[in-house]
Amino acid sequence: MRMIMLGAPGAGKGTQAVKLAEKYNIPQISTGDIFRSNIKNGTELGKKAKEYIDKGMLVPDEITIGIVKDRLQQTDCKNGFILDGFPRTIPQAEYLDDALESMGVKLDVVLNIGVDDSEIIKRMSGRRVCPKCGLSYHTIFNPPKDAVNCDVCKVQVIQREDDREETVISRLKTYHSQTEPLINYYGGKGLLLTVEGRDKIDETTKAIFKALGV
Ligand code: ADP
Ligand code: ADP
Ligand code: ZN
Repeated sequence: MRMIMLGAPGAGKGTQAVKLAEKYNIPQISTGDIFRSNIKNGTELGKKAKEYIDKGMLVPDEITIGIVKDRLQQTDCKNGFILDGFPRTIPQAEYLDDALESMGVKLDVVLNIGVDDSEIIKRMSGRRVCPKCGLSYHTIFNPPKDAVNCDVCKVQVIQREDDREETVISRLKTYHSQTEPLINYYGGKGLLLTVEGRDKIDETTKAIFKALGV
């Protein structure tokens, strides 16, 4: 299974991608997670990416594309992958088309999770993430079992710096202007599958599995 997760920031891409990755036994590739781990490790890439991320802007295509190119070449992608947060612009999507063609593989589906902006704001303000493994939690909708620590890593979950309300508003603007056009891009290729993302996490997972026939 080779798939892309589309949707606004906070739509639930990461949450659902984890479940899909488990179901299909393929890697979840999150460009956001890759940037955050570079920021944490103080790499040059991390320093550059942080300037954009903190402003709610997209990291430039040439930087982002290079990362995905390397990642898709790793052996664990042989039987498929879930791209979570990439592509986010038309040039990134065009690059991906070329890269997959040169690898001799095709995308199976682009899963679009639809959620209204008002719901997004609620989700982002309560989002907490594990600083170690990147799992997403929510203070109300999906708290860790002990309310404080990641269920898997047992380290305290934290709020992402770019989940502050001002930054969320610019990220939503960025989404509508630069990423939303991908819905038509993939719709035109007959690859788009849209799932309502307003329901509870488990119900959304069920709807996704049903739509995918698994
Ligand atoms: P979210 O889960 O809220 O959608 P991500 O973790 O996917 O956020 O991304 C966090 C930030 O990293 C984005 O706001 C953006 O600045 C940067 N980023 C992630 N993926 C991309 C991409 N494909 N192109 C450009 N910037 C990206
Ligand atoms: P994305 O990867 O699209 O940015 P996440 O998967 O990180 O989104 O989800 C954003 C926030 O909303 C997290 O706090 C997550 O726990 C929560 N969340 C995800 N899906 C749902 C849902 N269906 N209902 C309520 N909260 C959700
Ligand atoms: Zn963890």
